[in-house]
Amino acid sequence: MKNSDGFIKNLGELIAIESVETKAEKDAPFGKNVKAALTWFLNLAESFGFKTVNYDNYAGEIVYGDGQEIGIIGHLDVVPAGTGWNFPPFTLTEKDGYLIGRGVGDDKGAMLMTLYALKELKDSGAICNKKFRFFVGTNEESGWKDAEYLKTKTTLPEYGFSPDGNFPVSYAEKGFYYVNINLPPFKNFGAIKGGTVINAVCAHAEVYPKAEFDKTLLAKHGLSFEDGKVISRGVAAHGSQPQLGKNALLPLFEFLKDCGENVGDYIDYLFKDKWEIAKMKNEQGYLTFSPDLAQELKNGGTQILCDMRIPAPFTLKTVNEKLSVAPLDITVIDHEHPPVMTDKDGKFVQTLLKAYNAITGENQTPVSMGGSTFARVFKKGCAFGPEFDGENYHMHEADERVKKDLFINSYEIYKKAIFDLAALKEDI
Ligand SMILES: [Zn+2]
Repeated sequence: MKNSDGFIKNLGELIAIESVETKAEKDAPFGKNVKAALTWFLNLAESFGFKTVNYDNYAGEIVYGDGQEIGIIGHLDVVPAGTGWNFPPFTLTEKDGYLIGRGVGDDKGAMLMTLYALKELKDSGAICNKKFRFFVGTNEESGWKDAEYLKTKTTLPEYGFSPDGNFPVSYAEKGFYYVNINLPPFKNFGAIKGGTVINAVCAHAEVYPKAEFDKTLLAKHGLSFEDGKVISRGVAAHGSQPQLGKNALLPLFEFLKDCGENVGDYIDYLFKDKWEIAKMKNEQGYLTFSPDLAQELKNGGTQILCDMRIPAPFTLKTVNEKLSVAPLDITVIDHEHPPVMTDKDGKFVQTLLKAYNAITGENQTPVSMGGSTFARVFKKGCAFGPEFDGENYHMHEADERVKKDLFINSYEIYKKAIFDLAALKEDI
């Protein structure tokens, strides 16, 4: 990497801006620190000689080259530090071969690498047959309102990649939906409460009895009775991979059924897939459905929120037809994360993949993801690094860190991908 000292110095400056979303202020829709990070980044790009656009402090854009448009998008906002750090979260620390600080992995490090790679392309004087439009997001972690705003202000390129996922390259992402199911109040129990977030398998659920019940049912379903509540414990896992966890809600539902509550349909559909949606499979894998969050409704009933991921090319419409056969009060919340897919043998995916394989010496193939990344703001979007398979950057956790060697490796991959895309004379 050319000028790696300058890079590390810049990374330190960027990490030092605590760009966590705070309340909106004038000309700062996500708070003044997020705005400060955006301003800093665009200023740096200008000092490198790039043209920039500021979309009213919702997002920025750095432009280089002429020809078919290629999008790039990442983000400068970070999640709060949280607790448990052994190092100051908003100071870049170098220790034992690691770079440590909030945002080194997600996503400030990769944003800066992309900018430096574009700078090397520009400074090299190489012919650039593409127009790179590098979008600088500032609200990825808390709602994607930056992407929404961008779409109202400009037409995004069809093809693009996001350095905010994993290597080698992901050519498809499942569609991500919330499914809301309302249950009427139980006869002899309060509402079920369980789970922490919608995209994690429910690992703890409870219900309080309002009347005597058969205590032998507790052991039958592996439950315990503590402080007047029936408690179910499971194992958490990411909501996109429910098979890796153990949902705490199921034993609780089976217990309630044995206690004479009318929950048979919920067990059959939510947990036993009576509607046969979990059988829907294609090259991207299976549809996943995970009831992860339970809370009390105003009327004393229970609301169950489920994480549903639909592999492309299935669509929500196909799934809705199946969901509608169930005699349940069910609503699918469409927050516009439909399934996306790019031709995995096409020029775009293959150029990114070859850059990865050339630098690492590996022989990987494109992968698809259950998770959802910023890449999907482009119609043909691919997540492309910076996390390497088998490496844990502790994103969103304490002591977020990246091995410095890997950092240099990922920079070389981004640089090669950008140079190779620039060299493509024909359209993708
Ligand atoms: Zn991110």
